Amino acid sequence: MSDNYGVAEMEKEMGKVLSVVVSVYNEEQALPMFYQAAKPVLDGLSWDYELLFVNDGSRDGSPEILKELAARDDHVKVVGFSRNFGHEAAMIAGIDYAAGDGIVCMDADLQHPVACLPEIVKKLEEGCGIVTMARTRNHSAGVVKNITSSAFYRLINTLSDVKFEPNASDFFAISRQAAEVLRRNYREKVRFLRGYVQNIGFKRATIFYEARERAAGESKYSIRKLFAFSINTILCFSNLPLKLGIYAGGMAALMGIVVMVYTLCTRQGAPSGYATIVILNCFMFAVLFLIIGIIGEYIGILFNELKDRPIYIVEETENINKKSDQ
Ligand code: UDP
Ligand code: MG
Repeated sequence: MSDNYGVAEMEKEMGKVLSVVVSVYNEEQALPMFYQAAKPVLDGLSWDYELLFVNDGSRDGSPEILKELAARDDHVKVVGFSRNFGHEAAMIAGIDYAAGDGIVCMDADLQHPVACLPEIVKKLEEGCGIVTMARTRNHSAGVVKNITSSAFYRLINTLSDVKFEPNASDFFAISRQAAEVLRRNYREKVRFLRGYVQNIGFKRATIFYEARERAAGESKYSIRKLFAFSINTILCFSNLPLKLGIYAGGMAALMGIVVMVYTLCTRQGAPSGYATIVILNCFMFAVLFLIIGIIGEYIGILFNELKDRPIYIVEETENINKKSDQ
């Protein structure tokens, strides 16, 4: 046996464990490919590992495939939701259930290359709390998704105090310590996990990777879903839209003063022009309703937080002892 193998074995015995969290929603085609690709890479790591699949209420053959994998491989663990709760909820559950010293979140469709795992382990070993995986290119996203994504990041970075890395993806790694912060203090119902991960501090590192085409199946994110997600994120990370009312009020007052001064100076009984009045009225009402709408959105978020419903509900698990809902 080679020396290298001896070192790897020794470290494995020292008990460092990597948890690889994989969110799964209707991925029956991609799952076997993912397992096949990931298994040799994981076996070759200097750390021991657990492969934690979170089944986000899949309605295809994914649960059966996962059960079968868990039955034949002890490294495979499964957390199954009672219904679809969304990709972020799946990642949060994965972080909650992960027992490792480092946790990697990745997709099941092989867009996040498993070949990056050894480098991630190296960064975690160097003491990094957060390893950001930055896309150099996204083949599959398409022009519309790429343009809207960059516009979104520009907007959120202007509006928000915290800064977001535009190339960051749902592929990232965190240390046990950083995971503990997310488990304890970031339990919002309306949230942007990727944003939190980038803003909790700790020693950080960035690894670049090239996002591949989806291995099989199709994307679960529609443009509509992404739009709703973007609006929520802006509202979560910025109070600036709420201040719009103050600015609009100031501008309306200024306009009133100008019209008043003009009326007094020209000594007309009233400002002339029916059209002007109607247009001004419409404009003012539009601004007013927009502001009420924005306040309504914030109240909606507050309402969701207040109800304190679980982020996810676990129905069944494989190879996991702990059982609880969050
Ligand atoms: N996913 C999930 N729940 C959902 C939607 C997606 O767990 O409601 C998983 C999906 O199985 C995949 C990952 O999240 O592993 C990313 O989804 P997808 O590939 O569809 O998104 P894209 O890469 O196109 O942005
Ligand atoms: Mg994908």
